[in-house]
Amino acid sequence: MTCRLDENMVKETGYYDLLGVRSSASCEEIKRAFRRLALKYHPDKNPNAGEKFKQISKAYEVLSDLSKRKLYDHGGEGALRGNSTGGRRVFNSPVNLFNIFFGGGSNNHRPADKRGKSVTYHLPVSFEDLYNGARRKLSLQKNVICVKCRGSGARPGSVTLCQKCHGSGMEVHVLGPIPGIIGEIRTNCSQCNGRGEYIQSQDHCPACEGRTMTREQKILSVHIDKGMKNGQKLIFHEEGDQAPGLHPGDVIIILAQKPHPVFQRRGHDLIMGMEVDIADALCGCKQTVKTLDGRTLLITSRTGEVIKPGDVKCIKGEGMPVYRDPHKKGNLFIQFQVKFPEPDWLSIDRLTELQNLFPSQAVPIITEDMEEVSLRAFNPQEDQKHSSRQEAYEEDTEQSWQPVQCQTS
Ligand SMILES: [Zn+2]
Ligand SMILES: [Zn+2]
Repeated sequence: MTCRLDENMVKETGYYDLLGVRSSASCEEIKRAFRRLALKYHPDKNPNAGEKFKQISKAYEVLSDLSKRKLYDHGGEGALRGNSTGGRRVFNSPVNLFNIFFGGGSNNHRPADKRGKSVTYHLPVSFEDLYNGARRKLSLQKNVICVKCRGSGARPGSVTLCQKCHGSGMEVHVLGPIPGIIGEIRTNCSQCNGRGEYIQSQDHCPACEGRTMTREQKILSVHIDKGMKNGQKLIFHEEGDQAPGLHPGDVIIILAQKPHPVFQRRGHDLIMGMEVDIADALCGCKQTVKTLDGRTLLITSRTGEVIKPGDVKCIKGEGMPVYRDPHKKGNLFIQFQVKFPEPDWLSIDRLTELQNLFPSQAVPIITEDMEEVSLRAFNPQEDQKHSSRQEAYEEDTEQSWQPVQCQTS
């Protein structure tokens, strides 16, 4: 778009002078001039040029708007005042104007280069969820920029430049005569909280009551893929709380695998314990295992195969699915425990019978000089107590012997 005005009609040139352009400058020239100056004097880059920034912003606001520029050209600043709505000057905050110009977004009061906090949720998931895949709906409450006022907190057109800070959002406190400290401190303006704008209470946005933000319930749909792992993160980008001038943070879901009564997991493999009776351990066994997708596996050991306590056997392809390649699966490892019968479970006659079934062991030839001892139940804790008492006793006696040692010199 181009526009050109007749130079002869111009009454005041103050705003043109501020931007360093002729009063016949085109829209493009004005834009270019403002861009150059705004980058130079923006308070974030040049904190001491707040006043200058405010002036060039004001000049640009008028000269970039054809109707305002016309008014200004005809009647100077006085004409603009006369035209203001309800006798009040209507100005964007200079910083806000900067954001509109440089793509910071019209809702933001500062360039949105800062990121809001990310929020982390631990989502409990079962082995079945991780095996079969699952979907979860997660409801969360978050702050969103008010859609009615687009985060200005005011009815449209009712935002005025803060009188206290003149739109800079900053208050300057000149330091008193403290030895060694010269200069000034800048803080956020106390009236507008650094926003540079001021809204009369009757002009507050009815939707957010001037708070610029509303609370919103958001439902996140969480897809748990087959083979996902404990601690795996699912990131919902920019679903965190919104705030003016901030890129919303992320919502991070961390999968928290609940323990399973049967299975443990190691990578893609599943591990389970299985107890078999001694008869099955010796003669062959049949047992069933319910898989995480509801099938039943019949586990059979070959007749004649002996299962020893602690033996580990493997079933190929019955582990967890591989993440992003769920047709591949890890293995299922079964660690066996052998269940022995209680003492005296069989009569002595039958025991002898049973013993005869087993391969015979070499029986020692008993001679008279042998000492016969009996086996007792062993309790490690009891034994430790006993042995520590013994050691203390031995140390005492050793010490009592020392003085008796001979001097050798
Ligand atoms: Zn609002
Ligand atoms: Zn202020």
